[in-house]
Amino acid sequence: MSRVLVVEDESHLADGLAYNLEAEGHSVQIVADGEAALERLLAKKEKFDAVVLDVMLPGKNGFEVASELRAARNFVPVLMLTARGRPEDVLKGFESGADDYLPKPFELAILLARLKGLLRRSEWLHAGRGSAVSSATEGSGPEAQAGDVFTFRGKSIDFSTLELSTSGGKIQLTLMEADLLRHLIRSNGRVVSRKSILEEVWGLKEDTDTRAIDNFVVRLRRYIEDDPAKPQHLLTVRGVGYRFLAEPEVGDS
Ligand code: CA
Repeated sequence: MSRVLVVEDESHLADGLAYNLEAEGHSVQIVADGEAALERLLAKKEKFDAVVLDVMLPGKNGFEVASELRAARNFVPVLMLTARGRPEDVLKGFESGADDYLPKPFELAILLARLKGLLRRSEWLHAGRGSAVSSATEGSGPEAQAGDVFTFRGKSIDFSTLELSTSGGKIQLTLMEADLLRHLIRSNGRVVSRKSILEEVWGLKEDTDTRAIDNFVVRLRRYIEDDPAKPQHLLTVRGVGYRFLAEPEVGDS
């Protein structure tokens, strides 16, 4: 049985969600604002297996809540509920550390399926095994390395624990950061367009301002590049997108 925290101020929606999640065998707690969510997750250090986090909340919004969780090194899987017609919210959600998103109004069956996906990945993480981030990129490009650990230039990413190890220490990636990195790594030096990243990694079909994804890449560069201002691995291909090189090319900058 999984423990799910629902953060939603519209009580009919929260109650409906709780009813259906409980019918699926989960234990559900509801809070009506971000402050209460942070109180339980950070101050009281309550353990949840996943959080369903609405963006539109009184007081702190969902983005702020997710950011504060990640800043406090709490990596509970977060499914963010965004407003339909605001695709920029999706990218803001990822930037704040959400692992998945669903635009409102959503179909209940889809929410349950997405949550199941997050919980499955969460179980893998806790068990320290399995492929934590394969769902979105299954079957595309070269196979993952044995043990789901990818090593390049003295750094390694363990995709089963979402841990990036560098000479500077270990960094815990969110599921989405790891999904994006894996997608780029699997493309094996080929150029990956921003549009394909949005569609294939995050299943985002809306006509999104793809420039916003650049902010996300900036964060990944801070993790994996020795000098983020002069990337050697995660390269920008002007006007197109990005490519990942495990071994930087001579003369490339
Ligand atoms: Ca709301």
